[in-house]
Amino acid sequence: MILKLLNKVFNRKSSYYESAAQPIVISRQHHGIQRLQIDSCALKIVTQLQQAGYNSYIVGGAARDLLFGFTPKDYDVATNATPEQIKRIFRRSRIIGRRFRLVHVMCGSDIVEVSTFRGSSKIDDATQTDLHGRLLHDNVFGTQEEDAARRDFTVNALLYDPNKEEIIDYVSGYADIQAKKLRIIGDPAQRYREDPVRMLRAIRFASKLGLQIDNSTAQPISELAHLLQNVPASRLFDEMLKLLLSGHALACITELRARGLHHGLLPMLDVILEQPLGKQFITLALKNTDDRIQQNKPVSAGFLFATLLWHEVLSNWNALRSRGEKTFPALFNAISQTLAIQHNKLAIPQRFDTIMQEIWTLQPRFEMRIGRRPFQLIAHPRFRSAYDFMLLRCESGEFDIELKTWWEDFLSADPEKREKMLVKSPLTKTKRRRRRKKAATQTGTSPVTTVGVNQ
Ligand code: ATP
Ligand code: MG
Repeated sequence: MILKLLNKVFNRKSSYYESAAQPIVISRQHHGIQRLQIDSCALKIVTQLQQAGYNSYIVGGAARDLLFGFTPKDYDVATNATPEQIKRIFRRSRIIGRRFRLVHVMCGSDIVEVSTFRGSSKIDDATQTDLHGRLLHDNVFGTQEEDAARRDFTVNALLYDPNKEEIIDYVSGYADIQAKKLRIIGDPAQRYREDPVRMLRAIRFASKLGLQIDNSTAQPISELAHLLQNVPASRLFDEMLKLLLSGHALACITELRARGLHHGLLPMLDVILEQPLGKQFITLALKNTDDRIQQNKPVSAGFLFATLLWHEVLSNWNALRSRGEKTFPALFNAISQTLAIQHNKLAIPQRFDTIMQEIWTLQPRFEMRIGRRPFQLIAHPRFRSAYDFMLLRCESGEFDIELKTWWEDFLSADPEKREKMLVKSPLTKTKRRRRRKKAATQTGTSPVTTVGVNQ
């Protein structure tokens, strides 16, 4: 009531979130987060801000992940100090961002993002949105309550004070976590119009956190899916990358398809779903990536993109070979064709090109088991990724499984057995002797026994 009156007096627009007068405060006894779990840098930064007289909290994904019992991959801190005030407190810090300025605070080799509470956006101001209602600016400072309200889902809007060991909840996010519910803050259709990427985020968080998407949050998605076409390609790429590396990519993709978020809306998803010949290969690759992430093993985005685009490379390669081009030139040309198209369509940044090219161009070499070739292949810096890629090709039926067995045996064999496994090269005796001598000095003979790191 009082807040409504204040809003009226100060002509403040509370656009989609009617304020709860008092937040719910959840004590440690209930939420169960231990201070020891908190990253020491984030804890230090929150504490220093509080000692300087400001409010500060761990917010967003970190507060959420701690409540779910996951180790946060990074920490976001929010405060009522302005960027300049934050900068004054931390010697090793810098203000970044033009649209919304925030501060990167360096702590050892880590960087913690510290942002000033943001206010709710004035969505009724036509200059702030595009024709479809997409927010173009979101850059006013606000109170901590407004900061919670402008976030996307209730589970992402909790504030955690590691010193008081309290969770502050303005949006019933804690109750939603207990009810295993993913709920968008405010009017769902309006929030998706403001930022269509929230539809992708809904699906990612529901799969990752094992939450049911609330009916009213889910309902507008299929109807508004087309708005994703207005989102800049680089932003879509970032969000799709998060989804693919969430550890639940297969579940997310099934859900995206079920909700009609493909067919020309998400180029990356079309690549995944609309390749009948590559379907089994891509499904295996995603499952493999999900398993590795869930086992805390490293994965490489470049490897994943190489799998997603492989069947495009393969069909170009086959076409060129059937026109009489030789194996390797045809493969190089097929790769150039595929990459040229993907730069426009998928917006995969060029920094991933080298790893994809190396993985692909090494593939024919796995079939060459003559002379010293396998040793030269093992010595290649990208051998491990290319090897994992070849295993996927065997498992998806692209190659005879015999190739996989041969390589597994070869890698675990001692030098003597390896020599016996090699297919003899059709060289003259003298040439062969000379080559063997040279290769022995170059490659050494230590066997490679561990495989499986996609790097
Ligand atoms: P993760 O990093 O695990 O993907 P996250 O929740 O930390 O999850 P970020 O993209 O890092 O996701 O965003 C940090 C926080 O910023 C979110 O928790 C949410 O509160 C807020 N946020 C991010 N994107 C949006 C958005 N599109 N609309 C509103 N709030 C957002
Ligand atoms: Mg995050």
